[in-house]
Amino acid sequence: MEAEKRIKELRELLEKFSYEYYVLDQPSVEDREYDRYYQELEELEKAYPQFQDANSPTQRVGGTVLAGFAKVVHEKPMLSMGNAFNLEDLKAFDERIRNEVGEVHYHVEYKIDGLAISLLYRDGRFVRAATRGDGTVGEDVTNNVKTIKSIPMAIAETKEMEVRGEVFLSKAQFARINEERAARGEELFANPRNAAAGSIRQLDSAIVAQRKLDAFLYTLVDAETFGIAKHSDALAYLDRLHIKTNPNRYLCDTIEEVWETILKISEIRDTLPYEIDGVVIKVDELEKQERLGATVKVPRWQIAYKFPAEEVETRLLDIVLTV
Ligand code: NAD
Repeated sequence: MEAEKRIKELRELLEKFSYEYYVLDQPSVEDREYDRYYQELEELEKAYPQFQDANSPTQRVGGTVLAGFAKVVHEKPMLSMGNAFNLEDLKAFDERIRNEVGEVHYHVEYKIDGLAISLLYRDGRFVRAATRGDGTVGEDVTNNVKTIKSIPMAIAETKEMEVRGEVFLSKAQFARINEERAARGEELFANPRNAAAGSIRQLDSAIVAQRKLDAFLYTLVDAETFGIAKHSDALAYLDRLHIKTNPNRYLCDTIEEVWETILKISEIRDTLPYEIDGVVIKVDELEKQERLGATVKVPRWQIAYKFPAEEVETRLLDIVLTV
Protein backbone atom coordinates (compact mmCIF):
# COMPACT_ATOMS: atom_id res chain seq x y z
CA MET A 1 0.00 0.00 0.00
CA GLU A 2 1.17 3.51 -0.96
CA ALA A 3 0.81 5.12 2.51
CA GLU A 4 2.57 2.29 4.30
CA LYS A 5 5.47 2.45 1.87
CA ARG A 6 5.80 6.23 2.24
CA ILE A 7 5.66 6.01 6.05
CA LYS A 8 8.51 3.48 6.02
CA GLU A 9 10.48 5.64 3.58
CA LEU A 10 10.02 8.77 5.73
CA ARG A 11 11.00 6.98 8.93
CA GLU A 12 14.22 5.73 7.33
CA LEU A 13 15.02 9.17 5.94
CA LEU A 14 14.39 10.93 9.28
CA GLU A 15 16.49 8.32 11.12
CA LYS A 16 19.37 9.05 8.77
CA PHE A 17 19.02 12.84 9.22
CA SER A 18 18.82 12.46 13.01
CA TYR A 19 21.98 10.38 13.06
CA GLU A 20 23.84 13.02 11.04
CA TYR A 21 22.47 15.84 13.20
CA TYR A 22 22.64 14.39 16.73
CA VAL A 23 25.52 11.92 16.50
CA LEU A 24 27.85 13.24 13.80
CA ASP A 25 26.95 16.94 14.34
CA GLN A 26 27.01 17.19 10.55
CA PRO A 27 23.55 17.62 9.05
CA SER A 28 23.16 17.04 5.33
CA VAL A 29 19.87 18.97 5.07
CA GLU A 30 18.50 22.27 6.43
CA ASP A 31 16.27 22.01 9.54
CA ARG A 32 13.33 23.26 7.46
CA GLU A 33 13.62 20.30 5.13
CA TYR A 34 13.78 17.92 8.09
CA ASP A 35 10.69 19.61 9.57
CA ARG A 36 8.77 19.19 6.29
CA TYR A 37 9.42 15.42 6.12
CA TYR A 38 8.58 15.16 9.82
CA GLN A 39 5.24 16.92 9.32
CA GLU A 40 4.42 14.69 6.37
CA LEU A 41 5.11 11.60 8.51
CA GLU A 42 3.02 12.98 11.38
CA GLU A 43 0.07 13.58 9.05
CA LEU A 44 0.31 10.11 7.49
CA GLU A 45 0.52 8.43 10.90
CA LYS A 46 -2.57 10.36 11.98
CA ALA A 47 -4.48 9.37 8.85
CA TYR A 48 -3.34 5.72 9.07
CA PRO A 49 -3.19 4.86 12.80
CA GLN A 50 -2.82 1.16 11.94
CA PHE A 51 0.82 1.93 11.01
CA GLN A 52 1.70 3.60 14.37
CA ASP A 53 5.03 2.49 15.84
CA ALA A 54 6.56 3.39 19.23
CA ASN A 55 9.97 3.57 17.53
CA SER A 56 8.87 6.13 14.94
CA PRO A 57 10.85 9.42 14.96
CA THR A 58 7.56 11.14 15.87
CA GLN A 59 7.42 9.14 19.12
CA ARG A 60 11.02 9.49 20.30
CA VAL A 61 13.21 12.32 21.53
CA GLY A 62 16.11 12.61 19.05
CA GLY A 63 19.71 12.00 20.08
CA THR A 64 21.88 9.22 21.46
CA VAL A 65 24.68 8.79 23.97
CA LEU A 66 28.23 8.70 22.63
CA ALA A 67 30.65 6.07 23.87
CA GLY A 68 33.44 7.65 25.90
CA PHE A 69 31.13 9.55 28.27
CA ALA A 70 29.61 8.25 31.50
CA LYS A 71 25.83 7.97 31.33
CA VAL A 72 23.44 10.08 33.37
CA VAL A 73 19.83 9.03 33.90
CA HIS A 74 17.43 11.99 33.89
CA GLU A 75 14.99 11.56 36.75
CA LYS A 76 12.62 13.82 34.89
CA PRO A 77 12.95 13.15 31.14
CA MET A 78 14.34 15.94 28.97
CA LEU A 79 11.72 16.21 26.26
CA SER A 80 11.50 17.74 22.81
CA MET A 81 8.96 20.40 21.84
CA GLY A 82 5.89 20.64 19.63
CA ASN A 83 6.12 22.99 16.65
CA ALA A 84 3.97 25.85 15.38
CA PHE A 85 4.60 27.41 11.98
CA ASN A 86 1.92 30.12 11.85
CA LEU A 87 -0.74 32.01 13.80
CA GLU A 88 -3.31 29.31 13.06
CA ASP A 89 -1.15 26.66 14.80
CA LEU A 90 -0.74 28.97 17.79
CA LYS A 91 -4.49 29.61 18.00
CA ALA A 92 -5.14 25.84 18.01
CA PHE A 93 -2.55 25.47 20.81
CA ASP A 94 -4.21 28.31 22.76
CA GLU A 95 -7.68 26.84 22.33
CA ARG A 96 -6.59 23.45 23.60
CA ILE A 97 -4.88 25.01 26.62
CA ARG A 98 -7.90 27.16 27.53
CA ASN A 99 -10.31 24.26 27.09
CA GLU A 100 -8.28 22.17 29.49
CA VAL A 101 -7.14 24.58 32.19
CA GLY A 102 -8.92 27.92 31.55
CA GLU A 103 -7.19 31.32 31.53
CA VAL A 104 -3.39 31.32 31.36
CA HIS A 105 -0.53 33.74 30.83
CA TYR A 106 2.06 32.96 28.18
CA HIS A 107 5.79 33.38 28.75
CA VAL A 108 7.56 34.13 25.46
CA GLU A 109 11.29 33.42 25.09
CA TYR A 110 13.91 33.15 22.38
CA LYS A 111 14.49 29.63 21.12
CA ILE A 112 18.27 29.50 21.37
CA ASP A 113 19.81 27.32 18.67
CA GLY A 114 22.19 25.23 20.71
CA LEU A 115 21.84 22.03 22.67
CA ALA A 116 19.98 21.27 25.87
CA ILE A 117 21.95 20.84 29.07
CA SER A 118 21.07 19.87 32.64
CA LEU A 119 23.08 21.27 35.56
CA LEU A 120 22.97 19.88 39.08
CA TYR A 121 23.83 21.86 42.23
CA ARG A 122 24.16 20.26 45.64
CA ASP A 123 24.91 22.15 48.87
CA GLY A 124 25.35 25.27 46.77
CA ARG A 125 28.00 23.72 44.55
CA PHE A 126 27.96 22.69 40.89
CA VAL A 127 28.33 18.90 40.83
CA ARG A 128 27.27 17.60 37.41
CA ALA A 129 26.24 18.50 33.90
CA ALA A 130 24.54 16.22 31.39
CA THR A 131 23.37 16.45 27.80
CA ARG A 132 19.80 15.54 26.84
CA GLY A 133 20.89 12.36 25.02
CA ASP A 134 17.79 10.35 24.11
CA GLY A 135 15.78 12.24 26.74
CA THR A 136 16.07 9.51 29.38
CA VAL A 137 19.83 8.93 29.38
CA GLY A 138 22.35 11.68 28.66
CA GLU A 139 26.14 12.11 28.62
CA ASP A 140 28.08 13.31 31.65
CA VAL A 141 29.84 16.44 30.36
CA THR A 142 30.68 17.96 33.76
CA ASN A 143 34.32 18.72 32.97
CA ASN A 144 33.46 20.35 29.66
CA VAL A 145 30.73 22.50 31.19
CA LYS A 146 33.24 23.76 33.78
CA THR A 147 34.97 25.57 30.89
CA ILE A 148 31.87 27.75 30.36
CA LYS A 149 32.76 30.87 32.29
CA SER A 150 29.20 32.15 32.68
CA ILE A 151 28.08 29.04 34.60
CA PRO A 152 28.57 29.59 38.36
CA MET A 153 30.37 26.87 40.29
CA ALA A 154 28.77 28.03 43.56
CA ILE A 155 25.29 29.44 44.26
CA ALA A 156 23.49 30.82 47.31
CA GLU A 157 20.99 27.92 47.52
CA THR A 158 21.86 24.83 49.53
CA LYS A 159 18.89 22.68 48.49
CA GLU A 160 19.61 20.28 45.64
CA MET A 161 18.71 22.09 42.46
CA GLU A 162 18.51 21.00 38.81
CA VAL A 163 18.58 23.76 36.23
CA ARG A 164 18.19 23.22 32.50
CA GLY A 165 19.09 25.43 29.59
CA GLU A 166 20.90 25.75 26.30
CA VAL A 167 24.63 25.67 25.56
CA PHE A 168 25.42 27.73 22.49
CA LEU A 169 28.19 29.38 20.52
CA SER A 170 27.96 33.07 19.62
CA LYS A 171 28.08 34.03 15.95
CA ALA A 172 31.47 35.71 16.56
CA GLN A 173 33.05 32.63 18.17
CA PHE A 174 31.59 30.41 15.44
CA ALA A 175 33.21 32.58 12.75
CA ARG A 176 36.55 32.57 14.59
CA ILE A 177 36.54 28.76 15.03
CA ASN A 178 35.72 28.15 11.38
CA GLU A 179 38.43 30.61 10.26
CA GLU A 180 40.95 28.72 12.38
CA ARG A 181 39.74 25.39 11.01
CA ALA A 182 39.96 26.67 7.43
CA ALA A 183 43.55 27.84 8.08
CA ARG A 184 44.42 24.34 9.32
CA GLY A 185 42.63 22.72 6.36
CA GLU A 186 40.05 21.08 8.66
CA GLU A 187 36.40 20.47 7.83
CA LEU A 188 34.15 23.45 8.72
CA PHE A 189 31.19 23.31 11.09
CA ALA A 190 27.84 23.73 9.30
CA ASN A 191 26.42 26.22 11.82
CA PRO A 192 26.87 27.44 15.43
CA ARG A 193 24.47 24.79 16.75
CA ASN A 194 26.49 21.91 15.34
CA ALA A 195 29.73 23.54 16.46
CA ALA A 196 28.37 23.87 20.01
CA ALA A 197 27.09 20.28 20.06
CA GLY A 198 30.39 18.97 18.67
CA SER A 199 32.36 21.01 21.20
CA ILE A 200 30.49 20.01 24.36
CA ARG A 201 30.94 16.35 23.38
CA GLN A 202 34.71 16.63 22.93
CA LEU A 203 36.61 14.23 25.15
CA ASP A 204 39.42 16.76 25.66
CA SER A 205 38.28 19.61 27.93
CA ALA A 206 41.26 21.75 26.88
CA ILE A 207 39.84 21.89 23.35
CA VAL A 208 36.39 22.70 24.74
CA ALA A 209 37.86 25.63 26.68
CA GLN A 210 39.26 27.12 23.45
CA ARG A 211 35.82 27.04 21.83
CA LYS A 212 34.41 29.60 24.30
CA LEU A 213 30.91 28.22 24.67
CA ASP A 214 28.18 30.11 26.50
CA ALA A 215 24.85 29.13 28.06
CA PHE A 216 21.40 30.50 28.90
CA LEU A 217 19.44 28.64 31.57
CA TYR A 218 15.65 28.56 31.16
CA THR A 219 14.15 25.93 33.48
CA LEU A 220 14.26 25.42 37.24
CA VAL A 221 13.18 21.78 37.63
CA ASP A 222 10.52 21.26 40.33
CA ALA A 223 10.39 25.01 40.98
CA GLU A 224 7.33 24.45 43.23
CA THR A 225 9.63 22.86 45.85
CA PHE A 226 11.32 26.27 46.13
CA GLY A 227 7.95 27.90 46.87
CA ILE A 228 7.63 29.23 43.31
CA ALA A 229 4.31 29.19 41.42
CA LYS A 230 5.20 30.78 38.07
CA HIS A 231 7.83 30.08 35.43
CA SER A 232 8.59 33.83 35.21
CA ASP A 233 9.28 33.87 38.99
CA ALA A 234 11.53 30.83 38.63
CA LEU A 235 13.66 32.72 36.08
CA ALA A 236 13.77 35.76 38.38
CA TYR A 237 15.00 33.44 41.16
CA LEU A 238 17.76 32.09 38.87
CA ASP A 239 18.76 35.72 38.20
CA ARG A 240 19.08 36.32 41.94
CA LEU A 241 21.33 33.24 42.19
CA HIS A 242 23.50 34.72 39.40
CA ILE A 243 22.57 31.87 37.07
CA LYS A 244 22.52 33.34 33.56
CA THR A 245 19.08 33.61 31.94
CA ASN A 246 18.14 35.39 28.73
CA PRO A 247 16.85 38.88 29.67
CA ASN A 248 14.74 39.05 26.50
CA ARG A 249 11.50 37.52 27.72
CA TYR A 250 7.90 38.64 27.71
CA LEU A 251 4.71 37.84 29.59
CA CYS A 252 1.56 37.96 27.41
CA ASP A 253 -2.15 37.84 28.30
CA THR A 254 -3.42 36.57 24.94
CA ILE A 255 -2.20 34.54 21.97
CA GLU A 256 -2.63 37.65 19.78
CA GLU A 257 -0.18 39.47 22.04
CA VAL A 258 2.15 36.46 21.72
CA TRP A 259 1.92 36.79 17.93
CA GLU A 260 2.77 40.52 18.01
CA THR A 261 5.78 39.69 20.18
CA ILE A 262 6.88 37.00 17.71
CA LEU A 263 6.68 39.49 14.84
CA LYS A 264 8.85 41.97 16.77
CA ILE A 265 11.40 39.25 17.57
CA SER A 266 11.49 38.20 13.89
CA GLU A 267 12.46 41.77 12.99
CA ILE A 268 15.45 42.00 15.34
CA ARG A 269 16.52 38.36 14.99
CA ASP A 270 19.44 39.04 12.67
CA THR A 271 20.89 41.70 14.98
CA LEU A 272 21.37 39.24 17.86
CA PRO A 273 24.93 38.07 18.66
CA TYR A 274 23.74 34.44 18.75
CA GLU A 275 21.37 32.38 16.61
CA ILE A 276 17.76 31.71 17.46
CA ASP A 277 15.66 29.31 15.40
CA GLY A 278 12.31 30.31 16.79
CA VAL A 279 10.36 31.52 19.79
CA VAL A 280 9.23 29.35 22.70
CA ILE A 281 5.78 29.92 24.22
CA LYS A 282 5.21 28.48 27.71
CA VAL A 283 2.22 28.50 30.07
CA ASP A 284 3.49 30.63 32.97
CA GLU A 285 1.42 29.04 35.76
CA LEU A 286 3.32 25.95 37.00
CA GLU A 287 0.25 24.26 38.45
CA LYS A 288 -1.42 24.51 35.04
CA GLN A 289 1.71 23.16 33.35
CA GLU A 290 1.46 20.18 35.68
CA ARG A 291 -2.21 19.61 34.82
CA LEU A 292 -1.50 19.82 31.08
CA GLY A 293 1.28 17.22 31.40
CA ALA A 294 3.22 15.74 28.49
CA THR A 295 3.02 13.17 25.70
CA VAL A 296 5.84 10.62 25.35
CA LYS A 297 7.79 13.22 23.40
CA VAL A 298 6.67 16.78 24.19
CA PRO A 299 5.26 18.81 27.10
CA ARG A 300 1.70 19.92 26.28
CA TRP A 301 2.11 23.33 27.95
CA GLN A 302 4.72 24.75 25.60
CA ILE A 303 5.25 25.08 21.89
CA ALA A 304 8.05 26.30 19.61
CA TYR A 305 7.18 28.76 16.88
CA LYS A 306 9.70 28.13 14.07
CA PHE A 307 10.64 30.98 11.74
CA PRO A 308 9.43 30.45 8.18
CA ALA A 309 11.71 29.02 5.50
CA GLU A 310 11.26 32.06 3.21
CA GLU A 311 13.44 34.06 5.55
CA VAL A 312 16.29 31.62 5.15
CA GLU A 313 15.84 31.60 1.40
CA THR A 314 15.67 35.42 1.29
CA ARG A 315 18.86 35.66 3.27
CA LEU A 316 20.57 33.14 1.02
CA LEU A 317 19.37 35.14 -1.96
CA ASP A 318 20.74 38.34 -0.36
CA ILE A 319 24.11 36.67 -0.02
CA VAL A 320 24.05 35.44 -3.60
CA LEU A 321 23.07 38.90 -4.87
CA THR A 322 25.72 40.73 -2.86
CA VAL A 323 28.58 38.40 -3.76
P1 NAD B 1 13.67 21.41 19.10
O1 NAD B 1 15.07 21.85 18.98
O2 NAD B 1 12.76 21.80 18.03
O3 NAD B 1 13.08 21.95 20.48
C1 NAD B 1 13.44 21.48 21.78
C2 NAD B 1 14.70 22.10 22.30
O4 NAD B 1 14.62 23.51 22.28
C3 NAD B 1 15.02 21.80 23.74
O5 NAD B 1 15.61 20.53 23.91
C4 NAD B 1 15.96 22.91 24.09
O6 NAD B 1 17.28 22.45 23.86
C5 NAD B 1 15.68 23.98 23.08
N1 NAD B 1 15.41 25.35 23.59
C6 NAD B 1 16.02 26.49 23.12
N2 NAD B 1 15.58 27.58 23.75
C7 NAD B 1 14.67 27.15 24.67
C8 NAD B 1 13.87 27.83 25.63
N3 NAD B 1 13.90 29.17 25.78
N4 NAD B 1 13.05 27.09 26.42
C9 NAD B 1 12.98 25.73 26.27
N5 NAD B 1 13.72 25.03 25.36
C10 NAD B 1 14.55 25.73 24.56
O7 NAD B 1 13.55 19.89 19.31
P2 NAD B 1 14.64 18.79 19.20
O8 NAD B 1 13.93 17.53 19.50
O9 NAD B 1 15.85 19.16 19.97
O10 NAD B 1 15.06 18.82 17.68
C11 NAD B 1 14.18 18.72 16.65
C12 NAD B 1 14.56 19.75 15.63
O11 NAD B 1 15.95 19.58 15.31
C13 NAD B 1 13.82 19.61 14.33
O12 NAD B 1 12.64 20.36 14.33
C14 NAD B 1 14.85 20.06 13.31
O13 NAD B 1 14.68 21.45 13.11
C15 NAD B 1 16.17 19.79 13.96
N6 NAD B 1 16.77 18.59 13.34
C16 NAD B 1 17.39 18.78 12.16
C17 NAD B 1 17.96 17.71 11.51
C18 NAD B 1 18.68 17.95 10.22
O14 NAD B 1 19.12 16.98 9.59
N7 NAD B 1 18.82 19.18 9.77
C19 NAD B 1 17.88 16.41 12.05
C20 NAD B 1 17.22 16.24 13.26
C21 NAD B 1 16.67 17.34 13.89
